[in-house]
Amino acid sequence: AKLKGGNIHVIFDKQMHDYALRLLWIEEELLDAIDAGDIQVYYQPIVDAKSHKIISFEALVRWIHPEKGFIPPDEFIPIAEETGLILPLGEFILQSVCQQLCRWNNEMGFDTKVGINLSARQFSQPHLAELIINAIEKYQLKNSVIGVEVTETMAMTNVDNAIGILNSLREIGVQVSLDDFGTGYSSLSYLKKLPVHTLKIDRSFITELEHNLDDQAIVKAIVAMTQQLEFNILVEGVENKEQVEILQKLGCDYFQGYYFAKPMNAYDATQLLRGIDKG
Ligand code: C2E
Ligand code: CA
Ligand code: CA
Ligand code: CA
Repeated sequence: AKLKGGNIHVIFDKQMHDYALRLLWIEEELLDAIDAGDIQVYYQPIVDAKSHKIISFEALVRWIHPEKGFIPPDEFIPIAEETGLILPLGEFILQSVCQQLCRWNNEMGFDTKVGINLSARQFSQPHLAELIINAIEKYQLKNSVIGVEVTETMAMTNVDNAIGILNSLREIGVQVSLDDFGTGYSSLSYLKKLPVHTLKIDRSFITELEHNLDDQAIVKAIVAMTQQLEFNILVEGVENKEQVEILQKLGCDYFQGYYFAKPMNAYDATQLLRGIDKG
């Protein structure tokens, strides 16, 4: 028993060690990466379910490291969150998005909307609404062009607190989406109280949608429930035509996924918007 326990201990230590090294490395390099221009915001279109016209974008951060190549956000966002670096990183993302929205407005003469992901620490930082307002004013944007995405779990962890923060965002005209919806434990009575505009149904319900009647039933139930509560339903991770057809029948409002477009850099998003402009 001792030997077995010892082995487990060794494996655990090795994982801890690897994690600690990665954490240190990311902590050391992240701020430099922002300064070096290696952190970029990509944009993924969100389309209307009927017309398939682009109605907004989701901002998704990318770290393009000169030696290590592409580092996915799932790898560095949790570490940035743990170390507190998410606050300067989040501010950088907010500024980049607002600057881009300002450029698009100047170049194209119409407004585009972008939703920004917030992590738990960002969501509960004091003066969140003020930070957003400052960026909006700096780039002379309309308040309604910035949206935020907070996860269902974040909103439900401390509901009363969340309602306060969400109300402060709503007061300044920021649209709120509840991200990864269906993976947490929302109760209907709480959901009803949350001042959010849109539910983003989690991709895990969509991956097998066309083969899985349970997943179809779940999406159907979410749509039925939210019609009463007047939320918009956005489905993420839509990858094929069969899924589009099923989701249209179920009455979803907006789609996002590789079937329509992958996240793209600002240049490609600009080209896409130019195409729309021409009609
Ligand atoms: P999320 O907010 O749920 O973002 C959706 C993820 O699904 C993105 O992954 C997106 O590229 C991916 N996706 C979109 N459509 C499809 C599809 O059709 N098929 C598949 N397989 N995937 C699709 P990404 O960009 O790797 O981001 C992963 C997570 O990292 C995000 O999940 C979010 O939690 C976090 N994240 C990304 N950018 C930011 C950011 O700027 N700030 C914060 N706080 N978190 C971010
Ligand atoms: Ca999101
Ligand atoms: Ca999501
Ligand atoms: Ca997610």
